Amino acid sequence: GAHNLAVLAEQWHQRVGDYPMIHFEGVWHSSTEILDRAARVAGGLRDLGIEPGDRVVVLTMNTPEVYVTYHALWRSGAVVTPVIFLQTPPELRHILDDSGAKAAVVTPELLPLIQAASEGLDLTVIVAGEIPDGTDVVSYDVLDAAYPIPIEPRADDDLAALLYTGGTTGRSKGVMLSHRGLWESGNALHVVAEKAGTTRSLLPLPLSHAYGLIVVIAALHSEHAQSAVLQRWFDAQGWLEAVQEHRLESSSVVPSMLQMLLEQPIGDYDLSSLRFIGSGGAPLLPALRERAEEALGASIMEGYGLTESSAVLAASTLEESRPGSVGKPLPHAEVVIAAPDGSPLPSGESGEITARGPGVMMGYWNSPEQSAATVVDGWLHTGDIGHFDDDGYLYVDDRIKDLIIRGGFNVYPRDVEDALLAHDAVSAAAVVGRPDEKSGEEVIAVVALHPGASAGSEELLAFARTRLAAHKYPREVRILDAVPVTSVGKTDRKAVRSIIRATEG
Ligand code: ATP
Repeated sequence: GAHNLAVLAEQWHQRVGDYPMIHFEGVWHSSTEILDRAARVAGGLRDLGIEPGDRVVVLTMNTPEVYVTYHALWRSGAVVTPVIFLQTPPELRHILDDSGAKAAVVTPELLPLIQAASEGLDLTVIVAGEIPDGTDVVSYDVLDAAYPIPIEPRADDDLAALLYTGGTTGRSKGVMLSHRGLWESGNALHVVAEKAGTTRSLLPLPLSHAYGLIVVIAALHSEHAQSAVLQRWFDAQGWLEAVQEHRLESSSVVPSMLQMLLEQPIGDYDLSSLRFIGSGGAPLLPALRERAEEALGASIMEGYGLTESSAVLAASTLEESRPGSVGKPLPHAEVVIAAPDGSPLPSGESGEITARGPGVMMGYWNSPEQSAATVVDGWLHTGDIGHFDDDGYLYVDDRIKDLIIRGGFNVYPRDVEDALLAHDAVSAAAVVGRPDEKSGEEVIAVVALHPGASAGSEELLAFARTRLAAHKYPREVRILDAVPVTSVGKTDRKAVRSIIRATEG
């Protein structure tokens, strides 16, 4: 196929040549080094019995080896199965069982987790880093020293990656993404980024997430050498230091990272090189965007998408951007707002965001029924509610499964959260529905306060009442030390529901 990611990576390397590609913890890694190592590691994987189509779990924080491993897996025709490390053993076990992975690449600190999760399974564990004595695992160094193998042919629709969704709702499912889908989505993101004309960026996103993965693939579309400073895991101070030290021009983030950056003494750093920040993965409040743009001195462009769409569907650009909107659909995606019966809705009306295009997943692994319910005639049902304005800008209102129906009225939790966040003392808010005999569901809020700020539940309740219609304002506001978020910084409403259930006796 024309979209074999390993072939495309090699063509990219021929275009851009050998250059310093990734900076990680004080060391530069060149483009040639990454791809040469990948060819050897691919050989090492083959020696271990990894065949085309086999799934290999990659369970590590960001390191250059993650790049090497992804390219090695594509070269050998195998399937990149990235797993975010913040998993409990049973969650990871579910992924290992469901994917039928033959091998897993881990870093030493994650050995106990993979061992606990893989008990009794026939799984080859490959460790990148120092191996504790007496552990029965394979060293990544052995793979790195193997004979390179040629690129395995792949069809456009062959599986390139299997990504397990975050699981903020239900049991995590493996999203099947093809070589072509990832490549086309990467191109869509590349086109947006290219307009900004940056060549030195900071990458704090987990590469184990669809958003991080697509940023990596987008760079392979570039005609120019793109350098990235890679963070093992986001840390706000390190982010600011890296921008200053390497004169970085852009970064891709999730909104909670912006929030954490704003808590830093930003004025102490020289961020004059910074021009462009992409934000996605979760709603970006216009107020946060404004504050961050001012403090960081860069334009923030918002993107929207989901794992099931190979990450990106819509994005704002430097020329086309509107507060509160995630921008316009990107050229590779057709987006339609659908009524419950599937018919398209006109601009201004809210309904389910549906999308079609090459990036749409091939289905959920092992789940034909859920796949058929989610992708209907090629249209992906995103589970998000949204609308277009008259000029074609897309707005994401909320997620269907988070919608609260109180006394027959629809309440979008995000509206209620925005109202609470308008209070000076509130730093984070999450709103969920609690089953209620009288109204079906009752609107319940949890909030966290800014350090040093004080406000009581009653005060916040009264504040919300002045801003929200009678059917919308929360009947209860609880103050917590922190509002739970997922590993990519999304409000974890599932965790909030269980906190509320647990204290209900
Ligand atoms: P699960 O589907 O199991 O809950 P998840 O939420 O981690 O897991 P992802 O694919 O990472 O799954 O997230 C995609 C969702 O994130 C979208 O469906 C949407 O609800 C939300 N999202 C992403 N970008 C934006 C954005 N810019 N604005 C609002 N919401 C966004």
